[in-house]
Amino acid sequence: MEKKKYICPVCGYDKLEQSPAESYEICPCCGYEFGTCDYYCNSNYPVDVGYEFNYKEDEKFYSYVRELWFRQGCKWYHKEKMPRNWNIKKQLLNTGLSESEIDKLLENYKSI
Ligand SMILES: [Zn+2]
Repeated sequence: MEKKKYICPVCGYDKLEQSPAESYEICPCCGYEFGTCDYYCNSNYPVDVGYEFNYKEDEKFYSYVRELWFRQGCKWYHKEKMPRNWNIKKQLLNTGLSESEIDKLLENYKSI
């Protein structure tokens, strides 16, 4: 049987080895390191959300990190893990965003 995989709440990558709530795994796609609130590997921007949040549950925080990822062109942190037929829209649907929300995001960051 295949090992259970987990979904990244930032980018929707669905092959994380550990539960984001219980690990310090770095998402190979967006580069977000779970279990930290002040360190975002893939970013040149400091992650300072300016309010108290629960990093395990706060969608507002994840959407902030998602925006940072978009601002940098949605680059893969571990490029070698990027599937050849990678579809960003399909992947983002795993986060629970609606198609129109994703379209809006993609529209706002046309550079990718
Ligand atoms: Zn991710």
